[in-house]
Amino acid sequence: MPIRVLPEQLIHQIAAGEVIERPASVIKELIENSLDAGSKRVEVEIEEGGVKLCRIRDDGKGIERDELALALSRHATSKITTIDDLERVATLGFRGEALPSIASISRMRLVSRAAGSPQAYEIASDNGNLSEAAPAAHPFGTTIEVRDLFFNVPARRKFLRAERTETQHITRMIERLALSCFGTAFSLTVGRKVVADYPIANTQIERERRVAAIVGDEFMANALFVEHESAGCKLSGWLCQPTYARAQPDLQHFYLNGRMLRDRLISSAIRLGYRDVMFSGRQPAFVLFMEMDPTQVDVNAHPAKLEVRFRDGRHVHDFLFRTVERVLRDTYAGASTPAPA
Ligand code: ADP
Ligand code: MG
Repeated sequence: MPIRVLPEQLIHQIAAGEVIERPASVIKELIENSLDAGSKRVEVEIEEGGVKLCRIRDDGKGIERDELALALSRHATSKITTIDDLERVATLGFRGEALPSIASISRMRLVSRAAGSPQAYEIASDNGNLSEAAPAAHPFGTTIEVRDLFFNVPARRKFLRAERTETQHITRMIERLALSCFGTAFSLTVGRKVVADYPIANTQIERERRVAAIVGDEFMANALFVEHESAGCKLSGWLCQPTYARAQPDLQHFYLNGRMLRDRLISSAIRLGYRDVMFSGRQPAFVLFMEMDPTQVDVNAHPAKLEVRFRDGRHVHDFLFRTVERVLRDTYAGASTPAPA
């Protein structure tokens, strides 16, 4: 075959494959956009495991009429403008890829009323073809509807699981996002039934209530509160007591500068902190938030941004390991290992 430049739509679809694995990935990208827009309330509605419909409605700053089409264009973002911005990116998004990618593999409708604007506008995209922006009714904020996900990507559709499984992935995704942002209320409606509802949690008691609602009362009853800062790193959140350790690493939630991560270095540092008080082979449970200078981490290491690169990984590892070890040691001072049941 001769060398050819691929059609635009196909380029989008290929890029979509990197970040949109299943309906839950759509939910993640759209909620992250709502959070970046400063929303205080995010409502999610799905039908048929998110394949038929994912609708995300927020009360964030909205999108101006002239920018609606731009929001759906590739590499269009309001979040960074220079390479220096990329060094210190504080928003969850910055690649300008999510909306055009999702639009290329679904039928999308975007309705938004920008802060201060007298009127809302909507735009629709079908198989990548954009409509003109038209006036619509909508309060301040944005609603994005994604219908018939993967309708034009049969290969991907084949990999989707049963509706129940996809719904579960979406539920887990919303839980993980709700843990990262206590200042925003979240709800999930599945086929007209509200299945999750997390009100804004500003006080410590409200936060603990949200964490308990997500990771379980038993985790919370067995949790140690952590708050520690040193050498440019700050760690807060909840660590389970060693007696609550689990067979699987299924209750491990870690957020760096508000971004959920699945990082090897981090989980092994935390496990090491438990070394003296936990039977080997057991897995700690935790909900932890770390804050550090954003210039010390490269978040542009992974299209779905679940992995990062640290400028000084050793330092981060040691900080986490020592902090966890200290919290456990202070709690179990004098107790012989492992800690009493
Ligand atoms: P990125 O988040 O990487 O900038 P996206 O494709 O996800 O790229 O979104 C493109 C742009 O559309 C964003 O930069 C933002 O300006 C705008 N946008 C998307 N969703 C929302 C929303 N819910 N509220 C306000 N603006 C939004
Ligand atoms: Mg985004």
